[in-house]
Amino acid sequence: MTRQEREIWFLTGSQGLYGEDTLRQVAEQSRRIAEELNGALPFPVVWKPVLTDAAAIRRVCLEANASDACVGVIAWMHTFSPAKMWIAGLDALRTPLLHLHTQANLELPWSSIDMDFMNLNQAAHGDREFGYIQSRLGVPRKTVAGHVSDPSVAARIGAWARAAAGRAEVGSLKLARFGDNMRDVAVTEGDKVEAQLRFGVSVNTYGVNDLVAAVDAASDAEVDALVKEYEDTYAVAPELRVGGDRHDSLRYAARIELGLRGFLETGGFGAFTTNFEDLGGLRQLPGLAVQRLMADGYGFGGEGDWKTSVLLRTLKVMSAGLDGGTSFMEDYTYHLVPGQELILGAHMLEVCPTIASGTPSCEIHPLSIGGREDPVRLVFDAQPGPAVVVGLADMGERFRLVANEIDVVNPAEPLPNLPVARAVWRPRPDMRTSAEAWLTAGAPHHTVLSAAVGTEELADFADMLGVELLVIDADTEIRRFTKEIRWNQAYYRLAQGF
Ligand code: MN
Repeated sequence: MTRQEREIWFLTGSQGLYGEDTLRQVAEQSRRIAEELNGALPFPVVWKPVLTDAAAIRRVCLEANASDACVGVIAWMHTFSPAKMWIAGLDALRTPLLHLHTQANLELPWSSIDMDFMNLNQAAHGDREFGYIQSRLGVPRKTVAGHVSDPSVAARIGAWARAAAGRAEVGSLKLARFGDNMRDVAVTEGDKVEAQLRFGVSVNTYGVNDLVAAVDAASDAEVDALVKEYEDTYAVAPELRVGGDRHDSLRYAARIELGLRGFLETGGFGAFTTNFEDLGGLRQLPGLAVQRLMADGYGFGGEGDWKTSVLLRTLKVMSAGLDGGTSFMEDYTYHLVPGQELILGAHMLEVCPTIASGTPSCEIHPLSIGGREDPVRLVFDAQPGPAVVVGLADMGERFRLVANEIDVVNPAEPLPNLPVARAVWRPRPDMRTSAEAWLTAGAPHHTVLSAAVGTEELADFADMLGVELLVIDADTEIRRFTKEIRWNQAYYRLAQGF
């Protein structure tokens, strides 16, 4: 998918009191810091002229709100910038804010320091004045302290910038559902009006036969070309290859991909859902097509699960350019041998090949549910390494995100009879705590597994949207976690107001 151009604006606070000479130095030094960040962040950093009065501050904040390109604003008070000047601007600002607490020099020039130097380098108290007014106004922001040459400073700002890109994406995302929810399932339901208000995403349902029409309209030449691409990209089973007994099934899978991709492109959709209970005239449950569309960055959720689809698309955007894949996932079954506990995650078919270790094989097998022809799918094991699983639940009056840090591992033994893509992982801190915390939080069985983004990006994203995030990690202890849930219930109710 084409990535929208995104940028981060860099604002520097000062005041007129210091005179032209000092302000020239403030401009020059802040420009250098913006340039240093520019090379370290996932998007360009755009330096803005030094701000010295309330009208200019308010104007640049309104411009940030209005700009589609500007996904976040970094503010730094190089000198002292009396913070009443910032009230109107910060009150108007709707773009995510990061308060960078830094200074131009790394070392104090002990032998040469004079009052000119003191006059110029005042962030130590200028940023305290700015911190005060942000807290006084209740402005949500991330605060990052340190010299920009410190890689951890750039990394923390980078995580925030990625979260800001996710927020911008979900703010204009369109999701197509083919069919509604799987009957009687609770956790995949949710308030789509509240989702549009809180996240911005627009979720709408289309009759599955609209998709069938697009599938049937795919030309033989397009199918030929796509089948060739499959054969070049995957280890395609001999029975599915050109001349194989079941080659027609692969051609029909290609037809589904062409129809689905065309439908999503034409409608400007970045995410979608399917429902195996509502396949209309489709001859196969879409498996291979869904897997490949996820790999191209589309959000997906099975059984009408639009919330997980939204989350997948958002995390795909947040992780753009990073190593490690991101996929739709479902906690499926356990290895409960004491001390060796593991979770085996999979879905009926739809796991994204970006998390695959090695070349996926393209196979056809019966599917015991759905009542259609055998579907074609990619089969693989997930790449071992640290990752996170994230779920989004609708708690009635609000949304809740829950994340568990995990370690994906190789399966203990080969799985020759399991004809679906899968991931095996060890949850942190351990199986018992992870599962008890997850269930206590009421978090869903459908998740997004990402080896690319982590807790910091997710926490920044949740803060930007004012959505609760519960994290289960190496430090989680069940009694404390349960209390956090209780406190959060009170906090988020109060934070909503009346
Ligand atoms: Mn499912």
